[in-house]
Amino acid sequence: MARIELKNIVKKYGDGFPAVNDVSLDIADGEFVILVGPSGCGKSTLLRMIVGLEDITEGDLLIDGKRVNDLAPRDRDLAMVFQNYALYPHLTVGENIAFPLRLGHSKVDEKEIKARVQRAADMLELNEHLSRKPANLSGGQRQRVAMGRAIVRDAKAFLFDEPLSNLDAKLRGQMRTEIARMQRSLATTTVYVTHDQTEAMTLGDRVAVLRKGSLQQVASPRELYEQP
Ligand code: ADP
Ligand code: ADP
Repeated sequence: MARIELKNIVKKYGDGFPAVNDVSLDIADGEFVILVGPSGCGKSTLLRMIVGLEDITEGDLLIDGKRVNDLAPRDRDLAMVFQNYALYPHLTVGENIAFPLRLGHSKVDEKEIKARVQRAADMLELNEHLSRKPANLSGGQRQRVAMGRAIVRDAKAFLFDEPLSNLDAKLRGQMRTEIARMQRSLATTTVYVTHDQTEAMTLGDRVAVLRKGSLQQVASPRELYEQP
């Protein structure tokens, strides 16, 4: 778990209007924040700056009070889940989930890897599928594997970039419930980008509305969606 502080964050690609323009947001330890806004408003850019896949042009990013602007992604200890899953097709489900723990810089031993993969598989109901390849899974199962890979790392926070947007309505509903359950039981700080109003209303502690790179409003789902 971690507190994530964005202080006057700016992102400029070239000379144009900033993709992210002076965004400040204080995300509490264990909080679930939803990021919404029209296409092109800077949601992905913001997530990518938090996880370290994109440089921050101006401003400060603090994780648990420590400035991390210049820290490599691996040292930030955050887990990002993408909408296109990004699974390795030649690896089994179990190997895909274990993958982050087998990277060179990971210090987790085989016994612990097995235990963690098992725990993630239990939580995401993937036990029967551990030896299958991603090609033989449904979209919802693939998305679960992608989440398993995030859970297994014991990351300080989860960053979700429209994780359910490729799924049909029924699976989206199921996965929404699962994400809510997972976040409650792990209490991991989460930033979640979505276009889906039901997800925004039901998953988040707070909803942050981004527009043309600026934060327009930050409110509880109730304040945002039930106002007259
Ligand atoms: P969203 O995720 O809300 O759809 P993005 O963060 O992807 O928005 O994009 C925000 C703005 O930054 C858009 O105007 C987009 O065209 C621009 N942008 C995103 N990535 C790049 C890039 N690599 N180079 C130049 N401009 C970019
Ligand atoms: P390598 O360490 O072999 O270069 P990668 O290029 O896949 O492996 O990843 C580099 C680092 O970036 C990883 O150690 C990991 O900490 C971080 N990283 C990779 N994927 C993600 C992700 N989805 N979410 C957060 N961090 C990631």
